[in-house]
Amino acid sequence: MSQEIEKVKSFIIGSGPAGYTAAIYASRANLSPVIYQGMQPGGQLTTTTEVENFPGYPQGIDGPTMMEDMQKQAERMGADVRWGVVTKVDLSERPFKLETDDGKFFEAESVIIATGASAKYLGLESEENFKGAGVSGCATCDGFFYKEKPVAVVGGGDTAAEDALYLSNIASKVYMIVRRDELRASKVMAQRVIDNPNIEMLWNHVTKEIVGTQQGFMKALNGAILENVKTGEEKKIDIEGFFVAIGHSPNTKIFGNQLELDDQGYIVTHPNSTKTNIEGVFAAGDVQDHTYRQAITAAGSGCMAAIESERWLGEQ
Ligand code: NDP
Repeated sequence: MSQEIEKVKSFIIGSGPAGYTAAIYASRANLSPVIYQGMQPGGQLTTTTEVENFPGYPQGIDGPTMMEDMQKQAERMGADVRWGVVTKVDLSERPFKLETDDGKFFEAESVIIATGASAKYLGLESEENFKGAGVSGCATCDGFFYKEKPVAVVGGGDTAAEDALYLSNIASKVYMIVRRDELRASKVMAQRVIDNPNIEMLWNHVTKEIVGTQQGFMKALNGAILENVKTGEEKKIDIEGFFVAIGHSPNTKIFGNQLELDDQGYIVTHPNSTKTNIEGVFAAGDVQDHTYRQAITAAGSGCMAAIESERWLGEQ
């Protein structure tokens, strides 16, 4: 029995702001896009509380609602939004071939990859328990909620340094938990962090546990237990927010070595473009951006990907 193959003009993988914006534009360009939402429909924003920096929402909006709205807008324009995960991709020849976890097979004339990136976490059970209740992977998203409260940032790279500096203007105090005795961050950023009177560096420290109170669903983080890796000494710091900034992993596993990736695994796109090294395959949002990583920039590049794929399809 031959397998049924669905043929689509524009296949979009991923449902964050990049994927949905691409779907809105591709629908309006009559490309009848099929969009697979992936493991986490709505993407990283569904794990944040309030989004206050996306233009158009004067009162702010919570992340999950914003993503539901984007989905509805894409559907209203005609996008075929499907719940499921793309499990296999063959980009070696056109039309591109895709398989999904609901057992469907596709042939796509063009593909927009908007699979995003995932913030790395330490992997502690207590960290998982307080996610969204004190533990955050995004200082620019959640920092505002810690006005005049003590917080910690874990990590020693540029992201952690930026987060610590950002939070130092909001929080009453920022602890920076660094597992070595030096920062990986660029010299300028490192110096700014070290010179900041509101940031206390905790060199050679690792986090053993996040602690807090819990009554039913109500959780409140109130500290972290740290260990000095040089002396073995343990201590508790009193904090209400714990920001993990130990890097992001782009979600590019299913593409294997079919696409050009940079040394951190992000998809390489042409300058000022969403074109990848494979004609007809475009990448938008955090999967190709380790610099800005904002909802608005992801949405912008989703728009670019749809316009570029429309033009490319028109030339074929
Ligand atoms: P990085 O990989 O550069 O840094 C990760 C940091 O987290 C390192 O200090 C690392 O420690 C630490 N870390 C990793 N795992 C653990 C763990 N399990 N426990 C404790 N600490 C841990 O990631 P970034 O997100 O900071 O930066 C990614 C890229 O983006 C970099 O190239 C960076 O320069 C760039 N970037 C640039 C910015 C800018 O130019 N404005 C802003 C933000 C990022 P260790 O050093 O010991 O490995």
